[in-house]
Amino acid sequence: MTRLIPFLKQHIIGYAALILCISLLAGCSFSGSTKNSSAGGPVDGKGKLRVIFIDVGQGASQLIITPSGKTMLIDAGNNDKEQVMLDTLKGYGIKRLDIVIGTHPDADHIGGLDKVIDQLSIGKIYMPKVSSNTKTFESVLRSIQRKGLKVSSARAGITLNLDSGVQVSMLAPLTKYEDTNNMSAVVKVSYGKHSFLLTGDAEAESEKDMLASGADLRSDVLLVGHHGSKSSTSVAFLKKVNPQYAVIQSGKGNKYGHPTQTILKRLQKQGVKVYRNDTQGTVEILTDGQHFQIRAER
Ligand SMILES: [Zn+2]
Repeated sequence: MTRLIPFLKQHIIGYAALILCISLLAGCSFSGSTKNSSAGGPVDGKGKLRVIFIDVGQGASQLIITPSGKTMLIDAGNNDKEQVMLDTLKGYGIKRLDIVIGTHPDADHIGGLDKVIDQLSIGKIYMPKVSSNTKTFESVLRSIQRKGLKVSSARAGITLNLDSGVQVSMLAPLTKYEDTNNMSAVVKVSYGKHSFLLTGDAEAESEKDMLASGADLRSDVLLVGHHGSKSSTSVAFLKKVNPQYAVIQSGKGNKYGHPTQTILKRLQKQGVKVYRNDTQGTVEILTDGQHFQIRAER
């Protein structure tokens, strides 16, 4: 019940804002519980955990800002989104990233990381133990080397030291997989009563192993695996995570058909409220540990 009241309040305000938009026939951003706020715009983030699902088209990137101002970046979109990444980070006033995670070597995740590492002050970097001979991967490694940083291995069981009030743990990869998607670092971020599960491109095989590992998968917000491909978000995994909200990071009109109808229907059937980068732009979810506030660019 405690969750229901802010949830309803948020939606009532959201619908009211929508009606106002239609009646004014003017551009207006969708908002959760904050009127006329849009991701990237001013917000009172004091004492809140902010998770920003940056719109990088067909790709993925999540920026986490903790209540004490510590920062973590998971992935950075494709090579052609480097400027978007730099502008977005600048927009949030970020000059330093305490933790950077490259979930797996695919270009749509680590493509923009080289420039981010070049331009910002970086604390620790985590990537799964998997090699790749792509130019993109080599470019990221070169940037890491130039900064004199070392890559820590991303794997299940690790606890990340980001902010004393926020728990950050890695739930995958649990073993070595042939498919690089399954090598994705899966990160759970918890603050107060609420948690976010950020899944990279982990597919059903990794999900099955996470279920078998006995890790606490329950999360209020789920980053839908692999951009909403039907190879991820298996029924058993979704049931166990049991999210209230889901975010899908995919690009408008992408050639992969992401997100798939199968997954959209699966989420709908479980009553999950879905936010999408392709239709709503950047999505930001804030929590004080008790309530959620959700803002989207459009
Ligand atoms: Zn991907």
